[in-house]
Amino acid sequence: MAFEPFDKVALIGLGLIGSSLSHVMRREKLAKAISGHARSAETRDRAMELGLADTMHEHAADAVRDADLVVLCVPIGVCGQVAQAIAGALKPGAIVTDVGSVKAAVIRDVAPHIPDGVHFIPGHPIAGTEYSGPDSGFASLFEDRWCILTPLNGTDKGAAARLTAFWRACGSDVDVMEPDHHDRVLSITSHLPQLIAFNIVKTAADLEEVTQQEVIKYSAGGFRDFTRLAASDPTMWRDVYLNNRQAVLELLGRFSEDLSALQRAIRWGDGDMLFDTFTRARGIRQRIIEAGQDTAEPDFGRGGQHGETADSARDKD
Ligand code: NAP
Repeated sequence: MAFEPFDKVALIGLGLIGSSLSHVMRREKLAKAISGHARSAETRDRAMELGLADTMHEHAADAVRDADLVVLCVPIGVCGQVAQAIAGALKPGAIVTDVGSVKAAVIRDVAPHIPDGVHFIPGHPIAGTEYSGPDSGFASLFEDRWCILTPLNGTDKGAAARLTAFWRACGSDVDVMEPDHHDRVLSITSHLPQLIAFNIVKTAADLEEVTQQEVIKYSAGGFRDFTRLAASDPTMWRDVYLNNRQAVLELLGRFSEDLSALQRAIRWGDGDMLFDTFTRARGIRQRIIEAGQDTAEPDFGRGGQHGETADSARDKD
């Protein structure tokens, strides 16, 4: 069934996620009008040049006036202050959602500001790239990716159904989860791998016996895939770790134990342990490919030395 467009959608934040939403809304005609707000005049001007919004506003409250859907596409750490700034201007009956990579903390910060009669339904599209800013978005970012909604108790069913239909029209599959469960799941699928990437790049950068030039020259040995993750926006990731502290710390404890076991196996020459561990890991990769969450092509479908496929470029959260 065709999606009945929103009269007006407000995008607060026009970086990777906000600009991608704009592109897909334009392509699929999901909104009759788009208004926007970003912190800097530079981003606001660029968003207008790119046609990401019909109107850009210096104040977030002006952007959300009369909007039927408001999407907070800002770093997690500022969601609360943005919610406070827009609260008085929200239209009764409007849906407010967000795209933050952590859910419990966003709910803690945003929900107290949402007036009665406005539907707050937190969300998180599991799609991204290492790029940020208004130029980085593209319409297919959300295609065949999951979007997780974490509705609060007593959420209006009609509003939840409308937001679900919106994300489906953006090309995503929609799942519903408890916020804490979302944060635990994402700690292993996204937050820990990202932390490992930041750390391995740091370790390589600090090495003294191997030159920086050699690290770069021979990076195709696996290192460069970590550098892609590690090139992601530092503000976004700082906020993720500060706001999903407990789940990430619990998981890091577990991870460190498993790493120590591998360390021991290497030290004592326990080839069976290494072989079994690597065999199990290979099986998980196969299941990810079967689930359509990555390409089976060699080297992540890079196609030789040059360029990434769109698929391999949008596999991050
Ligand atoms: P981004 O490209 O860095 O864009 C962030 C946007 O937020 C910019 O337009 C920025 O404006 C604006 N902003 C920052 N602070 C603000 C404030 N105090 N008031 C108003 N606007 C403010 O970030 P992104 O990658 O789109 O990420 C946005 C959200 O999506 C984050 O919560 C992140 O957790 C989530 N997410 C990201 C990914 C990913 O892979 N990147 C995937 C899924 C979900 P200026 O340009 O003027 O600073």
